[in-house]
Amino acid sequence: MSRKLTGIGASAGIAIAKAFRYEEPDLTVEKKTGVDVKKELQSLDAALEKSRAELEQIKEKTMNDLGEEHAEIFSAHLLVLSDPEFVDAVKQKVQDDEINASFALNEKADEFIMIFESMDNAYMKERAADIRDVSKRVLSHLLGKPIVSLAELDEEVIIVGEDLTPSDTAQLNKTYVKGFVTNIGGRTSHSAIMARSLEIPAVVGTKEVTSSTKQHGMVIVDGIDGTVIINPTEEELQTYRRKQEEFEEKKAEWAKLKDEPSVSADGHHVELAANIGTPEDLDGVKENGAEGVGLYRTEFLYMGRNELPTEEEQFKAYKAVAEGMNGRPVVIRTLDIGGDKELPYLDLPNEMNPFLGFRAIRLCLEMEDMFRTQLRALLRAGAFGNLKIMFPMIATLEEFRQAKALLDDEREKLKQEGTAAAEELEVGIMVEIPSTAVMAPQFAEEVDFFSIGTNDLIQYTMAADRMNERVSYLYQPYSPAILNLVKMVIDAAHAKGKWAGMCGEMAGDETAIPLLLGLGLDEFSMSATSILPARTQLLGLSKEEAASAAEEALQLRTSTEVQELVQERFIKK
Ligand code: PEP
Ligand code: MG
Repeated sequence: MSRKLTGIGASAGIAIAKAFRYEEPDLTVEKKTGVDVKKELQSLDAALEKSRAELEQIKEKTMNDLGEEHAEIFSAHLLVLSDPEFVDAVKQKVQDDEINASFALNEKADEFIMIFESMDNAYMKERAADIRDVSKRVLSHLLGKPIVSLAELDEEVIIVGEDLTPSDTAQLNKTYVKGFVTNIGGRTSHSAIMARSLEIPAVVGTKEVTSSTKQHGMVIVDGIDGTVIINPTEEELQTYRRKQEEFEEKKAEWAKLKDEPSVSADGHHVELAANIGTPEDLDGVKENGAEGVGLYRTEFLYMGRNELPTEEEQFKAYKAVAEGMNGRPVVIRTLDIGGDKELPYLDLPNEMNPFLGFRAIRLCLEMEDMFRTQLRALLRAGAFGNLKIMFPMIATLEEFRQAKALLDDEREKLKQEGTAAAEELEVGIMVEIPSTAVMAPQFAEEVDFFSIGTNDLIQYTMAADRMNERVSYLYQPYSPAILNLVKMVIDAAHAKGKWAGMCGEMAGDETAIPLLLGLGLDEFSMSATSILPARTQLLGLSKEEAASAAEEALQLRTSTEVQELVQERFIKK
């Protein structure tokens, strides 16, 4: 019997394949005394050997599939495995205390991790993360509960899991991963955003997919409607294969507008730009006819590895994007780590409220050396294209001034060193915090542009965690509260002759687009796959009618009322 689940459609498209359950095994261990020491040591050697063989294999496959950079992390893991200081310490403990190898391994790993973490040296701190990962792998073999790695996939699957972290998503190989479904998450969680840029159909927030799906059972993922079908019948398979074809036909229709300008029916031009996470996303940007990059999330360059990227590495990535866009605008956002985007090697303490905590610009202003390295790389890359920089999560003018001062300082240093760097470069901020939207007129006197980050702006305005599907009903982009904030930001920018864009998911939302056009938004930045549908929609909208609808919407009382108004005036299916 088939079973239907409903979740949040996170990335459009239909995928049909076998389920691949992705879950972390339970690796808790208990201490056993008076064990057969010789046997424990033999098991440990066998587990070490299995881990080594496994890591060699993963390293080689990652190198072939994703390139050398991604594979480096596994070389570091192999080094830990052959480090006699660590391995001998574990063996010694088994012998001295006559205890089970798994417990000794856990104890020694914790000890080593603590020592490395307390060192005042970024390289040493990163070794702590390596030891954590490697000891988990060895432990999994000792306990006979192997860890699955997404990098090891070699057949077409749909990943089914509790959640995928952004770094899990960064490892996904499109050749094999046809779609994914998770229990938790919302439309604006980063795994959802990455699924859209990878063009992998995805449904998140189903609450129960892991308890309903068997390993290797057939699954249909409908990322358009947010539906998942487990064990589909022959009839359902046929229906969805048809839907898959229809979606492909629609895409072919949209593709005709690839090289056309983005104009409304009454001739008003806006910029339709794309959000990207890595230079590799540029192919999708071009295929989908984006007029620029409105948000380059640089944090992905810092993820899925064990140490900070160097200035040179960053420079190469930023330059590749700047050059790749051939003079079209590229807005690069400085590091926005924290919230649901973790960097284990920074070893930051866990927080009660990570989205309200030490993240993004707050963290960069404190970790000044790391921030300066990024600013230098950005300034240098700025010499190779039309680059603009923006700072994330700005809450106060002081934060902006401090970040800008560091940028100016690095520009001056580069100049004195005689290193080529951008002389003139627009510097803006993301408006993601209500205090900043309210103070937009004051900010507009100092910044070159605004980019409204509605994913966060909505979560902070409604006090509703964007990762929590139980409060996802409060993600209300059409709420008059949000529309009024958006209007304040756009008006403030225009009053000072500056431009206002939006790079939150709202910018590519069919219901929001008429309102944003009406409010005078200049740049709409979205997942690349939303650009052609948005351009198609824009061609049928009149700016004048949109402006009067937006004016009315601002006076309405609920999100539903606004939605109905837009449906009736502009969408009518
Ligand atoms: C936003 O908050 O709207 C945004 C674009 O940034 P991110 O989704 O990366 O937090
Ligand atoms: Mg944000």
